[in-house]
Amino acid sequence: MFTDAHCHPFDLNRALNGAEEERRRLGIVCAASATDMEEFAYNEELARMAKAENAPPLLPCFAVHPQLPASRRGADTDRKAQDGLALLESLAREGRLAAVGETGFDLFNGTFRETEAIQDELFAAHLETALRHGLPLVLHVRKAMHKVFARARSLAKCKTVIFHSWPGTAGEGQALLRRGVNAFFSFGAAILLNHRETMRCCAVFSPSRILSETDAPYQPLRGRKYSSWEDLPRVLEAAAALRRNAGAAASSVEELETAVETNFRAAFGRLE
Ligand SMILES: [Zn+2]
Repeated sequence: MFTDAHCHPFDLNRALNGAEEERRRLGIVCAASATDMEEFAYNEELARMAKAENAPPLLPCFAVHPQLPASRRGADTDRKAQDGLALLESLAREGRLAAVGETGFDLFNGTFRETEAIQDELFAAHLETALRHGLPLVLHVRKAMHKVFARARSLAKCKTVIFHSWPGTAGEGQALLRRGVNAFFSFGAAILLNHRETMRCCAVFSPSRILSETDAPYQPLRGRKYSSWEDLPRVLEAAAALRRNAGAAASSVEELETAVETNFRAAFGRLE
């Protein structure tokens, strides 16, 4: 069974009519990100229908996205962020969340860096909710691995930490595990787009730490306008080929698919 550790079904459905039918046809279990109530309600309804109709589960997640402060500045943004944090806490309390995320740090360019202090505050609140309710944490990190390491001790207290589109080096991944962070590293389009260090990580990491993702619709393969669930088999094939070349364990598509499914269950807990 293919598993997608990070995607945005609400946004994908705008790009691709019948996205949910595609997911069911391919038999993909996914962790679905949402950044506001409209998206969350949409995902929750898909999850409910999937369960009622015995289709592959969809796991609803929620967070205020770390890019929010930069994308819509001003008082309205502050209110949106505060409303989002209140919603996060109440969804967690009501047992409606599979994970807290995607949260994290985005210092990709000057615009994002200007909001670093607000991102710090948002992250602290998300971490607190994840710890209080024993929920997995899904991280979005761009040019900010130092901030992850600065919080390694707190992250080590989290049930699991899922790095969506793992942005670090092989050494950084291993260092996080050594520091006691129960980290899972998720790989998507980057390994098909010649990102050298990401490809190396995917080749050498322990098979018990690897996840697959689409980040649909946001990480398209070359020549495509958006990513979707049909990309997942290609991601798995590419990952298996990288591992074969490196002489690593779990280097056939079948072995890797099984390992990744086991990891998905370990990272997110029960699927119902
Ligand atoms: Zn995303």
